[in-house]
Amino acid sequence: MAKKGRVFSGARPTGRQHLGNYLGAIKNYVALQDDYECVYCIVDLHALTTMDEFEDLKQNTAEMALDWLAAGIRPDETIMFVQSHVPQVTELHTILSMFTQLGKLTDLPTFKEKVAQHPHNVNYGLVGYPVLMTADIALYKTDTVPVGIDQASHIEFAREIVRTFNHRTQSNVLIEPQMKNTEYPKVLGTDGAQKMGKSLNNHIELAATPEETLARVMTMVTDPQRQRRTDPGRPEVCNVFTLHKTFSPNELPMIDRECRVAGIGCVDCKKILAKSLNADLAPFRARRAEIAKDPNRVWDVLHDGAKRATAIAEKTMDEVKAAVGLP
Ligand code: ADP
Repeated sequence: MAKKGRVFSGARPTGRQHLGNYLGAIKNYVALQDDYECVYCIVDLHALTTMDEFEDLKQNTAEMALDWLAAGIRPDETIMFVQSHVPQVTELHTILSMFTQLGKLTDLPTFKEKVAQHPHNVNYGLVGYPVLMTADIALYKTDTVPVGIDQASHIEFAREIVRTFNHRTQSNVLIEPQMKNTEYPKVLGTDGAQKMGKSLNNHIELAATPEETLARVMTMVTDPQRQRRTDPGRPEVCNVFTLHKTFSPNELPMIDRECRVAGIGCVDCKKILAKSLNADLAPFRARRAEIAKDPNRVWDVLHDGAKRATAIAEKTMDEVKAAVGLP
């Protein structure tokens, strides 16, 4: 069946992935493969912009790629690779930076947020982050970028850079990417308050053991009004219940009913969640262990992806260089 177009998405190498990454990104990556030619990139260069210390990018890249494969990314169809393995992206970034007004970059709300988060490291690369992102999308001639509402402004910005480039060079070399609006759930962490993430250490790793998963789930914050076992609970304000909606569909009516009348306590409820999570993730974990048996497997996939990505990138760069008149 003919595919609808080419999708690009990138994620920084954050190592072992958690439930937030899974529900908010990876699940969708897997599903998109049915309808689109997909290009999924581990954006290690982007990671450098906010690194105060040099983390183990290689290890984090391998762990993340392993999770992607185990979750169902099909590397024979999908181009899955590491950003820095295709250096043409930095060349395109430089060229596109000449088509981007500095004031617009420093005005972006996302830039201001980054400055607030990393006040001692407001580096040049941080300002150019959206230009590098545009280079990623444009280099692989992708026409579709899946986005949640919070990322829409970046893609709008990428479209503007591409339009400016095409207009000023009087060419149609680059493709203006379309946004594919997708509803992404915001998965809260074990604190029940903030977005699940590694930096807050409120995450549950997909590749954790069943015991680790149970231990993590046991730390989850539930309805704060429920102080004692006999207090009735309010599932609608409880993050454990939110995860049950995804992972325990069969038990959901029982949990909803019994929580409200204190028929089950939070500990019971969490044990059910850990069981559901472990059951749901068991096939993923088995596949992950199988792939991990061959330590070269992940790198073979990533290098093969880089080769296929390079073939597209070289062609785009020939066109871009010709359009700007580089000799
Ligand atoms: P990046 O900075 O590259 O987006 P992250 O690790 O923060 O790296 O996120 C990778 C992907 O996982 C993104 O698409 C992001 O929206 C999604 N994601 C991360 N954490 C969560 C979460 N708690 N809930 C929903 N989606 C999440």
